Amino acid sequence: MTDDDRAIGVELASGDRIGARTAVIGNLTPTVLFDDLLSHHSLPNRFEAYVDGYEYGPGTMMIHLALDDLPEWNGPDDIDEFAYVHIAPYVEDLAETYTDSLNGLIPKSPFLVVGQTTAVDPSRTPDTGEILWIQVRTLPSTIEGDAAHEIEATNWDDAKTPVADRVIDKLEAYAPDVRELVRERAVLSPVDLERNNPNLHGGDSVTGSHHLRQNFLWRPFPGWSTYRMPVENLYMIGAATWPGAGNNATSGQLAAQRILNPGFGTKSLVATEKYIKQKATAVRNKLHFFY
Ligand SMILES: Cc1cc2nc3c(=O)[nH]c(=O)nc-3n(C[C@H](O)[C@H](O)[C@H](O)COP(=O)(O)OP(=O)(O)OC[C@H]3O[C@@H](n4cnc5c(N)ncnc54)[C@H](O)[C@@H]3O)c2cc1C
Repeated sequence: MTDDDRAIGVELASGDRIGARTAVIGNLTPTVLFDDLLSHHSLPNRFEAYVDGYEYGPGTMMIHLALDDLPEWNGPDDIDEFAYVHIAPYVEDLAETYTDSLNGLIPKSPFLVVGQTTAVDPSRTPDTGEILWIQVRTLPSTIEGDAAHEIEATNWDDAKTPVADRVIDKLEAYAPDVRELVRERAVLSPVDLERNNPNLHGGDSVTGSHHLRQNFLWRPFPGWSTYRMPVENLYMIGAATWPGAGNNATSGQLAAQRILNPGFGTKSLVATEKYIKQKATAVRNKLHFFY
């Protein structure tokens, strides 16, 4: 909820309204926060252009397997003691898989991160069974085709089963008995991930590209890295802000410190960003004048 140019609280889907005394903090990606929840509020043109230009990374698929036993790995003896096993396997494979997915192609050789949580924590299953989950990184959010020319489906609801089969084929090369150990499997495509959590735009598990142009002082946008947003008392945190994905709670802690007790560091960062924004606007205005 906003009043003039100030965030004053939140309205729940039920219609209940909760007022805010100090700040409203959105733990959401910019397109969800500004396009979906604050669409009624006009923003500075430059800022809207930043939101429109926010870049997402490729999609992710999750495959959850219930197993009779943990697989025998073709690899070092102690590999069955690790909670995480990454299978790419080489930089060239990663590059090809990433390029395929950015071009909208289902990769020939998906990049797998395998979690065998019961290897380190047997209490994860209620009985004698075991669990493996497979995070399939860098898949196209929207399918244009298949790099291997085998899968015809171009929507994720139809493509997820054959893609999951390809994943298990690849896993079998490293854990040959895995297929016969599977009791049940659940597959969540990039589209399913976004259905479950709108923050995972296109199934991007890291909530926005972490390339340099959208990282550090440029995350989420140049000039807006201190969690303050152009609506007074509105702050944005989460993986779309510094320090990015996989650093759960850090952005929230940094934002809370800045809101409750803005120290010299925060004040100078805010002042520096303000100064750079003014200079950038002046340069842009001059360029308009000349052209
Ligand atoms: C499949 C998967 C695997 C991952 N694996 C790893 C890993 O191995 N290691 C690692 O470090 N990181 C991993 N990550 C990344 C990490 O989980 C994220 O970076 C982190 O969870 C992001 O936290 P967040 O608080 O920014 O957003 P989220 O955890 O996405 O929280 C946002 C919350 O807002 C809610 N929400 C969305 N829209 C609305 C709305 N309109 N109204 C109200 N609520 C809303 C959502 O339901 C969600 O609960 C993985 C992510 C995924 C998806």
